[in-house]
Amino acid sequence: MSAIDLVGVRKQFGETQVVRGVDLAVPSGAFLSLLGPSGCGKTTLLRMLAGLETPSEGEIRIDGAVVNAVPPGARDIAMVFQSYALYPQMTVAQNIAYPLRKRGVPKGERAGRVAAVAEMLQLGPLLERKPRQLSGGQQQRVALGRALVREPRIFLLDEPLSNLDATLRSHMRAELIELHRRIGRTMVYVTHDQLEAMTMSTHIAVIDGGVVQQFGTPQQVYRRPVNRMVAGFIGTPAMAFVEGRVGEGGALTLAGTRVATVDAAPGATPVIGIRAEDVRLAEIGVPARVGLVEPIGHETLVRLHCDAGIVTARLPGDTAVQPGEQVHFTADAGRLHLFDPIGGERLT
Ligand code: ATP
Repeated sequence: MSAIDLVGVRKQFGETQVVRGVDLAVPSGAFLSLLGPSGCGKTTLLRMLAGLETPSEGEIRIDGAVVNAVPPGARDIAMVFQSYALYPQMTVAQNIAYPLRKRGVPKGERAGRVAAVAEMLQLGPLLERKPRQLSGGQQQRVALGRALVREPRIFLLDEPLSNLDATLRSHMRAELIELHRRIGRTMVYVTHDQLEAMTMSTHIAVIDGGVVQQFGTPQQVYRRPVNRMVAGFIGTPAMAFVEGRVGEGGALTLAGTRVATVDAAPGATPVIGIRAEDVRLAEIGVPARVGLVEPIGHETLVRLHCDAGIVTARLPGDTAVQPGEQVHFTADAGRLHLFDPIGGERLT
């Protein structure tokens, strides 16, 4: 059973089509990331789920019931925004209790539920502080607490970690994963950070140009991206794209060197997508000149310039190559990605 269904959802503001026909079924209990570049429409999608925007066309269903006309307060959804939007004059405890107070939950029960949430998020010692006396990460936890305390069916999170520094972000990522595991509620998370999406989600919807490019598990979108947009957006360093050429018998060559046998007509010129971890230096292979060398401790990223383009290799940390050096590389034939040179869709 899906917790949320989007059926042919479109949204336009004036003449501008922002969401252009989205169909998605979010399984109950999923952690779904809506992942895409700035302006692709992900926040608009989330706001439609929350009831803060109305679709121009299509249906939004929660637990099977159409909610297009249901106001935000009646959807049993909690939303956490990028800006935490805490009430500055209230204490942490009052901020967390606020949604309960608004719903007329009696004082005794309120206190119990606030204490339970505070314990879960390790906010106990901070309950009497005001938001300005808290760090960014603590404020973020209070905002989460305020969403959690209502025990809604669905959580919507709009880039809630983007104001935090790198250390705190990775800490909060782990906390959110843990939280999702513990409470098992459906969460929809908007981010443009593919690492966040890869590490936290059970499912990812990659969005570009107002449409879902691919929906799947993190492994599915990483291993079998359906087009060049998804392939280039997921993974660090980004997948390299170089020009391939198909010869007699399906021989696929890269800069004149045979790299695989493919099921394609001679003369075809697919784009070959290569992930850095699939590249190795070898005695025999594609000739290339070493460009930028980036040692990052346990591994070294090396840019290899060949006649068909630039390929990045993820090599062991002790690899001794110098910029300008001539080398040869190979790439695992079974792990090459082939894309149409014009439309960009996956060919194999
Ligand atoms: P970001 O990561 O930058 O927040 P996003 O993918 O969340 O981007 P949206 O906020 O959904 O993108 O916006 C998508 C497009 O819709 C943008 O071009 C934006 O300018 C436009 N847009 C959003 N809300 C409105 C509005 N109320 N009126 C007019 N245009 C809007």
